[in-house]
Amino acid sequence: MNGLADQEDLCLRFDVLTKTKQPELHRYWTQRDRAATVRLFHLAAEILHAIELGVFVPNPGWQCKDCPYRSRSWAAG
Ligand code: SF4
Repeated sequence: MNGLADQEDLCLRFDVLTKTKQPELHRYWTQRDRAATVRLFHLAAEILHAIELGVFVPNPGWQCKDCPYRSRSWAAG
């Protein structure tokens, strides 16, 4: 959408590497239409605006133990 690529060529794929005894790579292609891309753009813009205003909505979980902001996060526990 920023003009750096042909929108028809833009794709998103999740590559999932299983940590099993016999590792496997699974690839899942996603499909987006223009309306979904526009919704994502607006959502990202709203979130960036909230960050600029100092809004912080914590998402505590397994990732907190390695988070560089842990000492400053009231939600880390
Ligand atoms: S420590 Fe705080 S900022 Fe870091 S992941 Fe956890 S909730 Fe988010």
